Amino acid sequence: VSSVEATQAHLDRIAAVDGDIHAFLHINAHALDAAADIDRRRGAGESLSPLAGVPLAIKDVLVTTDMPSTSGSKILEGYLSPFDATVVARSRAAGLVPLGKTNMDEFAMGSSTEHSAYGPTHNPWDLERIPGGSGGGSAAAVAAFEAPLALGSDTGGSIRQPAHVTGTVGMKPTYGGVSRYGAIALASSLDQVGPVTRTVLDAGLLHDVIGGHDHNDSTSLTDAWPSFADAAREGATGAVLKGLKIGVITELPDSGFQAGVSASFRAALDLLSAQGAEIVPISAPHFEYGVAAYYLILPAEASSNLAKFDSVRFGLRVNAPGTVEDVMAATREAGFGDEVKRRIILGTYALSAGYYDAYYGSAQKVRTLIQRDFDAAFAQVDVIATPSAPTTAFKLGEKINDPLQMYLNDLTTIPANLAGVPGISVPSGLAEEDGLPVGIQFLAPARADAQLYRVGAATE
Ligand code: GLN
Repeated sequence: VSSVEATQAHLDRIAAVDGDIHAFLHINAHALDAAADIDRRRGAGESLSPLAGVPLAIKDVLVTTDMPSTSGSKILEGYLSPFDATVVARSRAAGLVPLGKTNMDEFAMGSSTEHSAYGPTHNPWDLERIPGGSGGGSAAAVAAFEAPLALGSDTGGSIRQPAHVTGTVGMKPTYGGVSRYGAIALASSLDQVGPVTRTVLDAGLLHDVIGGHDHNDSTSLTDAWPSFADAAREGATGAVLKGLKIGVITELPDSGFQAGVSASFRAALDLLSAQGAEIVPISAPHFEYGVAAYYLILPAEASSNLAKFDSVRFGLRVNAPGTVEDVMAATREAGFGDEVKRRIILGTYALSAGYYDAYYGSAQKVRTLIQRDFDAAFAQVDVIATPSAPTTAFKLGEKINDPLQMYLNDLTTIPANLAGVPGISVPSGLAEEDGLPVGIQFLAPARADAQLYRVGAATE
């Protein structure tokens, strides 16, 4: 098929189903022009990259010059960036065709996409259920065949948990492996951009396009990365599983997990061990404290990153009478949703003099202990496996008024961000009690992203 045909087919699919799913906030009016350009270049015999002409959905946290970038917030309604995020620029350069911008929790704060200022996204498997978050739009678009590939961002699980609840593949690269330039910052020490796709090979192909050093991101690694698509192809033979040591964390209580999620996880481990992998119990005693540390570190960094939305430089301005400070306060009052305000208040409190050591300081110590747990574990095993999240897709509205329950959903995804290690969620089947998708997560040492593509492809 030509790129125009593929792009038109996805636009038709969006027109048919997105009224119910609401994965997209904006559709690219120039998608067919970009596709036609690729077809013309291919026709002229130009050698193009493997993904040239393939449509791509882009999470709205990533800034784009030709489409608005709101990060799911009213405060950025209609905002047009003067530059493309590096991952977007690299995707365009590789000939990918941007289809549109996908829905997300406001500023990527959430696990259900219900915190979007533009209304929730619905899970294509069951429209009354959440598609995960914060990148529920990207995952739902891929699961509903509205897009073959999508970009997401993962600060505490926002690529992997949506992948888990929609039966898709989500990869959070090693911190610094993919540029954050032009990704509207949530928590800069935790944020990573990565692919959301239907297969591990697709994720590898997209990662190959977006990854690698970028001088515009001061935390970008200068490593020469191997081809992740090749790693996925290698993994697909299954040979990688012979003698592979897969660690399972002994301290993770079974009680926190839905029965069907635990059962799917154990069944996946049985299959892996039947193919020659060795399942090794490992100790990571601080893993389960990741949620507590994260929900201090993240609000602290977010409160600082969101200070720039001051009514002067970007987006919304509410012209309240009085001083410039009154204008800023009125703008932030009107422009930010409840979850964002909750985290700004939490974060400024945790950072305030007198409380800093007790909250932010302690959380940073826990972060170090989690990193040490991983170092010790990876001295014994090649990868660690966990369920990607404690439950399958819950009902819209079920946890929206209970922030703590919402936060606990991130139990297994958060530690990878705190330690900067890569993590992938791969579908492992359906839960028996509700027939909804479940994912298995693999974690590897920093820089061992290729290992996750090998193991992920051997598992799917
Ligand atoms: N659910 C987590 C949060 O609310 C993760 C968010 C993310 O990865 N962007 O912070």
